Amino acid sequence: MSVSRCMGRALKIAEAPRATWADAIAAVPEACPHADCTGGQGCRARVADYLRIQWRMVAAREQRRERAAA
Ligand SMILES: [Zn+2]
Repeated sequence: MSVSRCMGRALKIAEAPRATWADAIAAVPEACPHADCTGGQGCRARVADYLRIQWRMVAAREQRRERAAA
């Protein structure tokens, strides 16, 4: 399954602290090494897109938590 191969990598990165994401994304090959990938664009671009959305969600969640604690 091509999608899960690329996105599996994104999910793994998302589990790590956000401070490590930039380096992790940079380590993803820009051109997908999987011949069966259905993305149509590089793995890194897909992973970066996914993590951009995750970043916003995590940041919003943290902000809510901080506001609730204040
Ligand atoms: Zn791929």
